[in-house]
Formats: sequence, C-alpha cells, structure tokens
Amino acid sequence: MLKDQDRIFTNLYGMHDRSLKGARARGHWDGTAKLIKKGRDWIVDEMKGSGLRGRGGAGFPTGLKWSFMPKESDGRPAYLVINADESEPGTCKDREIMRHDPHTLIEGALIASFAMNANACYIYIRGEFIREREALQAAIDECYDAGLLGKNAAKSGWDFDLYLHHGAGAYICGEETALLESLEGKKGMPRMKPPFPAGAGLYGCPTTVNNVESIAVVPTILRRGGDWFKSFGRENNAGTKLFAISGHVNSPCVVEEEMSIPLRELLDRHCGGVRGGWDNLKAVIPGGSSVPMLPQNICNDAIMDFDWLREQRSGLGTAAVIVMDQSTDVIKAIWRLSKFYKHESCGQCTPCREGTGWMMRVMERLVTGEAEVEEIDMLLDVTKQVEGHTICALGDAAAWPIQGLVRHFRNEIEDRIKHKRTGRVSSVAAE
Ligand code: SF4
Repeated sequence: MLKDQDRIFTNLYGMHDRSLKGARARGHWDGTAKLIKKGRDWIVDEMKGSGLRGRGGAGFPTGLKWSFMPKESDGRPAYLVINADESEPGTCKDREIMRHDPHTLIEGALIASFAMNANACYIYIRGEFIREREALQAAIDECYDAGLLGKNAAKSGWDFDLYLHHGAGAYICGEETALLESLEGKKGMPRMKPPFPAGAGLYGCPTTVNNVESIAVVPTILRRGGDWFKSFGRENNAGTKLFAISGHVNSPCVVEEEMSIPLRELLDRHCGGVRGGWDNLKAVIPGGSSVPMLPQNICNDAIMDFDWLREQRSGLGTAAVIVMDQSTDVIKAIWRLSKFYKHESCGQCTPCREGTGWMMRVMERLVTGEAEVEEIDMLLDVTKQVEGHTICALGDAAAWPIQGLVRHFRNEIEDRIKHKRTGRVSSVAAE
C-alpha cells in the first residue's frame, strides 16, 4: 500500500488550502527554476527513466513522446496541449486534480513546456467542468501575479504563457486531434494520422498533447527522481496512479495508489469492499467504459496495471474502475454504453457512423430478449468490422465492451433469449 509520504496528490480531497500559499506549503513551486536550469535533455531523460506511461488511457511512454518534439525551432512555435476533456464514463480523476490541486498541474505545464521548447500551453477543459475551470483559472491568475507565469516564468529565464480553453461537452473532443481541431475553432473531428501532432499539430505546429495526470506528476518526479517513481509498481508499469472507483462498492472514491495493486486490495482498502461482500461481485470494467469487462473469476486475481489487464484482453485505460455486483443486468449496462458511443460518434467514417448504430440496435434486442441466438455472432462480426477500421479509437471503444460481454456472459445472453425475459422492455424503451 502506498505510504502517505509517497503520495503526489496531497490535496486530492480538498482538505487543505488550494491557493498558491497552500500549494507552496505542500512543496509545490519549490526550486522550479533550478529544475528548469538543469536543461531539456536532463528533464526528458529523467522522465524516460521514471517509466511514466501516459495516464489518459493509451499508456504511451511520456518521456519518449516528449522526445519526438523538434529540439531546435524551425521558425514555427511549439505547443503543449493538456487534455482536460475528461468525459469517459466512470472517469473522474483529472477533475479532482483540477479542483483541489491545480498548482501541481500548472507547475508541471511550465516544466514540460520548457522541455519541449514550447512557450505556450493550452489546457482544453471539458465544458461541463465549471467549478474546475474556476479553480484552475484562479490558480493561473495567482501564478501570473506572482511571476510564476509570463515573462521569465518563476525566474527560470523562460517565457511561458498558459491558456485555459473550455470545450462544449463533446466526448470526441477528448481524442487528441479532434481536440486540436476544436481548439482551432473548428468542429471537433479527428484527423487522419500521420502527420502526428509532434510534426504538425495545433495550427500546423509541433505539438504534444498530454493528459492532466501525466503533467501533474512531473514536478514531483523531477524533485524526487525518476528512480523514485519507478520504484512503485512492476517493470513496465511504474509509478503511482489515480484510480476512480465507482459502482457497487460501499464507498466510491478517487484514490492514489501504487500501480499493479491487486484489484481486491484496492477495493477493500479504499472503498469498504464490494457491496454485499466479494462473493457478490459479478463483473468489473477496470479502465473506463472503453475496455472490456472482466467477470468475477478473473477479478479474483486481477492486478491493476497495463500489462496484466491487456493479457486478459481488457485494459487499464483511464483506471476508472466500475464495479458491478450480482444485481447488475450486464447486458443492459453494455447496451447503455453502446448508446453512448453511438451518440458521441462524430460520423466522419462509415464503420463507426453506421456500426455504432447497428451495434446499439442489436444490443437493444439482446436486452429485451427479442433477438435470435444467431444475432450474437452477427453482432460480434459487426464489432470486428468496426474495430481497427476507423480514423480514431472511438470505433474500437464502441466494439470492445460488446466483445467482452459476449466473451464472458454469452450464457446469460442466450438464457435471456431462450426464456424471452422481457421484463425490462419497458425500461429500455423509456430511456
Ligand atoms: Fe468519428 Fe467514429 Fe470515425 Fe472517430 S471512429 S473519426 S468518432 S466516425
């Protein structure tokens, strides 16, 4: 279990003053200029050595991503863009950072931007996050007043401006290239890659898009050292991590823990366990709504990290853990997610635009038990035609939860069809 002295987010629950004064008392903005004066190569190497993998869901190594940015300017400005468009169902970890610990994000933005030769950073925040926007803007204003942002930011010799930009509530704008389009004032639609943002991102300039948590951990990693961060978790799955736990646990929460913590320990220690006890567990979605669910027998041994969950054909994703007990209608739960993805598809590519509608409609027939048994395999076939055939990962995200449902709960689906358990028809129709 992570000890208190090793927690990065020391104000996760808003227990302390979130102002600059309070942040300084907790060690933020301590020696920032000294860190910057160690140079770009030192910062990037330290980040690489820390083993930090991006906390937005994809898990790409952060230091390596930074190293893709041009070292020398070719006349174009470079940008850091922080993805604060947290909208994945079940995911609410970045929200807590922005609400209660905004200074660690701002300090991280300055250091990371310097490391990537960027004099400006945009934080793209989800439109519905009004309180978080207010907290963050207040902290940014304080920093300008204190000389921590702007010309010669924090007396580092580096000029740096930070802008907060809010979205309008479209899930797809959390996809990095759709986010860039939206930031440029256009409709939020993902771009074809390549070119990748490091070559041509915001306004056609070199850009790195990082998640809030990935940037907020940077100052502490650099102060305590990459090796310190790497000492938590397992090989290739290093560090501490925020987990957002919701659903059928006794006390849902967002908590910072060591990577690779067993799922059962995570729930027992921080959430008072599964409602009705562990034996009452039916399934868990371990990483936000885009990853396949795992049934209880796999959850018994589950290790919460990228590699273990991938071996189980699921994923750590955003580490949003959605717990479902035996009372859950898992077919209906996945149908609801199908409805979400259909609604959020930008409609740009055919497999996603048409496939998400197909999948939702067949899922609805599975919920009501009106489908034929053969439709289960037909549905799987549709998911395979969507998966990997779209411009962005939303198509995969719509397909994978259904694949997980069929993989682990085919009997339950067939049973419903066989017995025409139509008791829930009216509730589906009503929603
Ligand atoms: Fe848009 Fe879906 Fe294609 Fe992504 S996969 S670009 S959301 S249509």
